[in-house]
Amino acid sequence: MNKEHKCHGLAASISEYIDGELSPELCLALEQHMSECPNCTIVVNTLRKTIELYKQPDAEENLPEDVRTRLYQRLQIEDYLK
Ligand SMILES: [Zn+2]
Repeated sequence: MNKEHKCHGLAASISEYIDGELSPELCLALEQHMSECPNCTIVVNTLRKTIELYKQPDAEENLPEDVRTRLYQRLQIEDYLK
């Protein structure tokens, strides 16, 4: 079992993790993996910061789906998943 394989499985869960939609078990697995994987830590931190920038203090709307999709694409998660 190599780490790259594990990354592939967990990277698919990162968007859900950031949205708070990931199950507690998978959150834990992802957090444990991040503690030993700088790549995944960077992806999660970057996404979080970027999404926070999109959130207006006076707006409670969620990030629009198209913006979210473009954001993930821009951060090259698609490439990351390959
Ligand atoms: Zn990883």
